[in-house]
Amino acid sequence: MPAKNEVTFEECMANVQTYIKRPENLDLIKRAYEFAHVHHAGQFRKSGAPYEVHVIQVANTLADLHCGPKTIAAGLLHDTVEDCEGVDHDTIVENFGEEIAMLVDAVTKIKAIKFKDEKEYLASNHRKLFIALAKDVRVILIKLADRLHNMRTLQYMRPEKQKKIASETLAVYAPIAHRLGISQVKNELEDLSFKYLFPEKYEQIKRLVRQRESDRNEQVQSMIGEIEGILKTYKIPYRIFGRSKHFYSIYKKMKTKNKRFEEILDLLAIRIVTDSEVHCYEILGYIHAKYRPIPGRFKDYIAMPKANMYQSLHTTIVDPENGNIFEIQIRTEQMDAVAERGVAAHWIYKERPGASVEIQQKEIEDKLSWFRDFSMMTDEESEDPLEYMNVLQKDIFEANVYCMSPRGKIIALPPGSTPIDFAYRIHTEVGHKTVGATVNGAIVPLNTELKTGDVVDILTSNHSNGPSKDWIKIVKSGHARNKIRAFLQKQEHQNRKELVKKGEHDLAEEFKRLELDDSLRSQKRLEGILQTLSFKTVEDLYIGIANRRVSLQSVVDRLAKNRNTALSAADIVKMINKTVPKTNKSSNCGVVVPGIDTIAVSLANCCSPIPGDPILGYISKGQGVKVHRKDCPNIIHETKRLIPVAWEENAENDKSYEVKLIIYSDDRNYLLSDIVTMLQQSNAYLKQVDSSVDDNHLTATTKLTVGVKNADHLQVIIANLKKVRSVNEIVRTIQ
Ligand code: MN
Repeated sequence: MPAKNEVTFEECMANVQTYIKRPENLDLIKRAYEFAHVHHAGQFRKSGAPYEVHVIQVANTLADLHCGPKTIAAGLLHDTVEDCEGVDHDTIVENFGEEIAMLVDAVTKIKAIKFKDEKEYLASNHRKLFIALAKDVRVILIKLADRLHNMRTLQYMRPEKQKKIASETLAVYAPIAHRLGISQVKNELEDLSFKYLFPEKYEQIKRLVRQRESDRNEQVQSMIGEIEGILKTYKIPYRIFGRSKHFYSIYKKMKTKNKRFEEILDLLAIRIVTDSEVHCYEILGYIHAKYRPIPGRFKDYIAMPKANMYQSLHTTIVDPENGNIFEIQIRTEQMDAVAERGVAAHWIYKERPGASVEIQQKEIEDKLSWFRDFSMMTDEESEDPLEYMNVLQKDIFEANVYCMSPRGKIIALPPGSTPIDFAYRIHTEVGHKTVGATVNGAIVPLNTELKTGDVVDILTSNHSNGPSKDWIKIVKSGHARNKIRAFLQKQEHQNRKELVKKGEHDLAEEFKRLELDDSLRSQKRLEGILQTLSFKTVEDLYIGIANRRVSLQSVVDRLAKNRNTALSAADIVKMINKTVPKTNKSSNCGVVVPGIDTIAVSLANCCSPIPGDPILGYISKGQGVKVHRKDCPNIIHETKRLIPVAWEENAENDKSYEVKLIIYSDDRNYLLSDIVTMLQQSNAYLKQVDSSVDDNHLTATTKLTVGVKNADHLQVIIANLKKVRSVNEIVRTIQ
């Protein structure tokens, strides 16, 4: 037995038959019911009621919204695939066809995935609802009807579950119902959620409303009587009635506008429904002629419909006799149906034989501008459900600033939005090319805050450089922010790609110039030098080369210096055997080739290495191994003939190595003798000296060849020479 407020299937059918007449359509609904009846047999709701009671209520809500026969049938079947043994997609296709099976599937899928965390769950669920909505709005109507009955029977759930479901309803389902314009479902969902989330406040408001009801009714009835008098005089067709605000909207107003209960309830509400738009304005005229309207409260939503298609005239008037304030809504029957049933009302108006789902869907999208905007917004957005939720919350549910393009397109934006937000909602490309804006004909800065009613004209230029980073701080809508970010990221990516290309090209050119083997700049070798140059990736290194954060020279040096590691020990031996005459004498220059002691080794004359210098061996034809300093320019670009060598541990102490030095100094008397004296004091053996003075006798250049023991000794010598008066710089040279 259905509970109070619940209908039997017969009652549901009576409801359906008020607008569905064709026998084949009625038959479809009956068959769907029979199917659900059979397959849900033996299943019960938490309340103890047979499960079919639930699906009948869902179907009845869909009938209240004047949904089509297929939607109602799908409503009756919505839980069969998930909950009934032996019923799957194919079973539904066989019995009811593809279209209904698709609707049932889509409704089933919305709840299929489980999430760890409540926030993520909410966000994902929201997202899924909207994706389903994008496919077919009927899926959402069924889902809303389903949720409505679950909310009506929430008392059978555990308290924690009640709160969870209620908060989800308030956060996800009610806003969607609102945006679809289905206010009768939205209001009930809100009041039921309110009841479970804030039971005390709910009871308090309910009690206060009841207490004032009879007073209010009297006042409303007397005003209705007066208006009826006018409408009869002018022979305008009408329905007129008082209406009550739902509890949650009273609570919300008290909270957001910080008003006392009395202030809100004292607003008495009357609705007049007539047959044509012209009559709406006529009625408004007569009412304003008789009663004083409160300034700023008149709203013409007929000429400027809300984004959810809502149309009506709103005005607030004062009864001069008692000071009572009345909110009056004036609209046509059609507008009233849209206001109550929203998108569903629109659906039924457009439902006609032969019209495909796609065409109908398109028509709804055209009407529901926000929906089209939203679909547009979502196509390339981030995959992160929380981000998605943020955009949705801000741009769709909090959008209450209505602006217009010069051609009359209305765009709803979140509060604080700027012309840039507006531009991105017109089109992403318009946003990217924005260079300025006029609001109500006057040029304004791009960070100007838009107000409802502003006519915004965006100035674009094909030569614009695209959005700037600063825009991210200016915009208020998530949509614009995401588009700007995406653009900047893409641009950076593009720049990066170009810089990588340039860096790679520069390095290749340098290799060509130095006639280096390209194998030296293989990916592997490049990776090998990343750490010493403090780059993370080879791409970063190329970018560093391109924007000169690192010199080509140092990259080439490092690639070339480590080149011997590319040779295996076997390669080295092979090469030596081929090119070097064997000798039994070990070298007497203090350098050894590790692992090979039968080879001629001598120091190169060009760079004159001394013990302690980093060195490399160069296999020279017929002359054994020549030892060079690692940074000697004569070998730096060598590729194949280098081998590791080392200074002997016990190199003879008295052996002397030649080093060439250049001393740059200011010219003065006795400079040379001071230098020679300092060399003697440093135990350096002077082999050769060559001094020259520039034409103006200002600077002197002194070239020395000195014998030193090792690198440490050389350091001491250089340090001492620097102490000689007027010496500016000392350089160790390489020939
Ligand atoms: Mn259900």
